[in-house]
Amino acid sequence: MVKLNIISSLPIPPGVNNLPVPSGIPGNLKVLNWAGFTGAVSYTFDDSTSSQLDNYAELQALGIPMTFYIQTNRITMKPVDLAALWSKIVKDGHEIGNHTNDHTTVSAANIDIATDFIQNTFGTDVYSIAYPYGDTSYIPLAKTRFFIGRGVSGGNILPNDSTDPYNLKCDIHSTSRMDFVVDSARSVKGWRIILVHGFTGGNDGAYQPVNYDQFAAGVVYAKSLGDIWIDTVTNIGAYWRAQKILSSVTPVFSGNTTTWNWTLPDHFPPGKYLRVTVDGGTLYQNDKLLEWDGHGYYEVSLDAGSLTLAH
Ligand SMILES: [Zn+2]
Repeated sequence: MVKLNIISSLPIPPGVNNLPVPSGIPGNLKVLNWAGFTGAVSYTFDDSTSSQLDNYAELQALGIPMTFYIQTNRITMKPVDLAALWSKIVKDGHEIGNHTNDHTTVSAANIDIATDFIQNTFGTDVYSIAYPYGDTSYIPLAKTRFFIGRGVSGGNILPNDSTDPYNLKCDIHSTSRMDFVVDSARSVKGWRIILVHGFTGGNDGAYQPVNYDQFAAGVVYAKSLGDIWIDTVTNIGAYWRAQKILSSVTPVFSGNTTTWNWTLPDHFPPGKYLRVTVDGGTLYQNDKLLEWDGHGYYEVSLDAGSLTLAH
């Protein structure tokens, strides 16, 4: 039997790293909420405004993956030096999402021009969209193009809750720090998405610009808590959607095995994982043994589409 040595891109949660392999009664499959963290936060930037680029070196130094929902006809996309900076943003591991081409027209073409631009310019696929002005009339178009979409009304998203994946909640960064939003995610064990349009000092009229130092202090605070998963909308959103899917599967019992089969939604990103526990037994995917991670979980490949527990 080949051992499947998984190295997912999920960050390591806080806590001990030498937990023993569960050796109780086989069964009781559970998905860890938020990859083993208490809560989750995503920082998103809309409109590809100049001050996002002006502050990019400092943003990158914060050491967190972020999502940039770009409007592809903005002037900030065009000059060669700025195009190179957007390419660097992609290479640095941040997400580029779709915020349409012209920010005005609710149409398939307006979305697809932006996706084509991103794919052709940066060589990266596009998995998520943020609707200009939070306009939900984009949703039917989003459903055939992306696996997730962000709206603009605030609040927590909870594991296995009924939040519409095509209208994710989102909190616009106020003029003061957003620690209360991070604290809220932590206390209810939820996911909050924070939206910044730009920073003070920009020259292209960013909506409600935020003082950079206040923003950075908020990120430093969120990181300092140690149990908040800070990642892109697509990375956290894939985990959240997949947890719901696996949790809703009715397993098939056969002989001494239990098997869960699933189908991922259209446009779901490849190469994603869930972290699960069982009370005991041995987990396999495609006849490959899953290795226990001493941080307290097995990592399940979502692309595999199937998970088997041997009793
Ligand atoms: Zn916008």
